[in-house]
Amino acid sequence: MEMPKPDDAVLSNRLRIADDLRAIVPGEGVIVDEDERRPYESDGLTAYKTSPLVVVLPETVEQVSAVLRYCHENGIKVVPRGAGTSLSGGSLPLEDGVLLGLGKFNRILEVDYDNRCARVQPGVTNLAITKAVEADGFYYAPDPSSQIACSIGGNVAENSGGVHCLKYGLTTNNLLGLEVVMIDGEVIRIGGKHLDSEAYDLLGIMTGSEGLLGVVTEVTVRLLRAPETVQALLIGFPSSEQAGDCVAKVIGAGIIPGGMEMMDKPAIHAAEDFVHAGYPLDVEALLIVELDGPAQEVTHLIGSVKEIAESCGAVSLKISESEQERLGFWAGRKAAFPAVGRISPDYLCMDGTIPRHQLPKVLSRMTELSNHYGLRVANVFHAGDGNLHPLILYDANIPGELRKAEDFGGDILKLCVEVGGVLTGEHGVGVEKRDLMPAMFTEIDLAQQMRLKCAFDPDGLLNPGKVFPTLHRCAELGRMHIHKGKLPFPDIPRF
Ligand SMILES: Cc1cc2nc3c(=O)[nH]c(=O)nc-3n(C[C@H](O)[C@H](O)[C@H](O)COP(=O)(O)OP(=O)(O)OC[C@H]3O[C@@H](n4cnc5c(N)ncnc54)[C@H](O)[C@@H]3O)c2cc1C
Repeated sequence: MEMPKPDDAVLSNRLRIADDLRAIVPGEGVIVDEDERRPYESDGLTAYKTSPLVVVLPETVEQVSAVLRYCHENGIKVVPRGAGTSLSGGSLPLEDGVLLGLGKFNRILEVDYDNRCARVQPGVTNLAITKAVEADGFYYAPDPSSQIACSIGGNVAENSGGVHCLKYGLTTNNLLGLEVVMIDGEVIRIGGKHLDSEAYDLLGIMTGSEGLLGVVTEVTVRLLRAPETVQALLIGFPSSEQAGDCVAKVIGAGIIPGGMEMMDKPAIHAAEDFVHAGYPLDVEALLIVELDGPAQEVTHLIGSVKEIAESCGAVSLKISESEQERLGFWAGRKAAFPAVGRISPDYLCMDGTIPRHQLPKVLSRMTELSNHYGLRVANVFHAGDGNLHPLILYDANIPGELRKAEDFGGDILKLCVEVGGVLTGEHGVGVEKRDLMPAMFTEIDLAQQMRLKCAFDPDGLLNPGKVFPTLHRCAELGRMHIHKGKLPFPDIPRF
């Protein structure tokens, strides 16, 4: 994986730059010591590591603004970072870039039940929002499995999802407003507590922008009333195809469960060994289907899902009888990633989305690919959304195995696109899928998206080397006219 060539002039000025930044963020907010920079050298995609030029941990919006203005004036790259749990390398540092950590922005500023929203700083963890309001019967719906650690700022930047996004939408559907600092230090506010957005949908553009357009310093999220009743079904199938068929039939029957997740045999065994959730071990695929709403409706829907599951060949079926049992069903799924970490020295977590009906075809091609590469794969899906998370197991200590795992992952994602799906469901593009973007987008599509990036960050200083596999000089891009798909500046370097 190639990154933009570091700027030697910036590298040789590390100490002066750190001094300048200390004038903006005094005390312990600037880290330059090599050992102290090490904890920041990678994110959740631990296969890649780079020590940042300097780490800056501001505490106020004014400091963020001044740091960005300084970097803009001095041509220094900036990588924003929340909790560093990105699985696509979104917050992977740059050798010649300032790593801007938002971890100190960890306060819930306001809870406003009248407007059903909360105003929070970007470093607040996803789960902390629900924890702050659950005693009053409210919650924040998007729930990534990493919710105990990941920040809401990171969720906005990645447009994160979770098991409940099938019914309640992704981050983008649960956001009302943002405060964002632009690369030149200007502070803008987008949206607010109101439902309607004004002018162009800048809120939509910022959501999922992976730290390439601006730094989020405040987030207003929608709060939902906790449902009256929640129950889950744990359903085992003799094949993944039958489980996939059940998913399609449930949705086809007009039922939108609160969550509908699927795990294959390797993932079931890893999770059961780890958290003892009571999963059946003699099935090939497991579905967790959660239904929520008024008690009568939930009882009715459970009956319908049970009927559909049986018609699809379910061999085991449990219905949660208590809140504790329901949480137990989820415990294995929520711990699936760390559980798989116990059965393999390393794994790559892929993230692609397919039309639901293509699941059987994709699963059988994945088995062929697994045999071809000689690498095991454990599958965890947000089945209702068609969002796949194949975990490719490998050992980084075996020479060439990381490369093999990356190629295997690339083939899976290309397969997702081939069957009518997309390269990512919720983990973002980052560096992980950057070079696969041409499998999904034409040069014209990519150039159009880059023009948008250029409107926000003409010098390409915010998180460069991520998302876009190609041109990064806005001057050329501005003048570019692509004729018949041919690039006018073929000599401009690509990563
Ligand atoms: C075990 C595990 C399970 C996971 N499960 C899920 C899941 O179920 N669903 C899901 O969607 N993701 C999941 N993830 C991925 C990850 O947690 C999410 O992408 C999360 O939103 C990242 O948040 P973060 O605070 O860690 O961001 P970081 O990793 O620090 O950064 C992610 C990106 O956001 C940018 N960024 C961060 N903060 C800001 C800011 N304030 N302003 C502008 N840009 C910013 C960074 O530059 C980077 O591009 C999982 C990760 C792990 C390790």
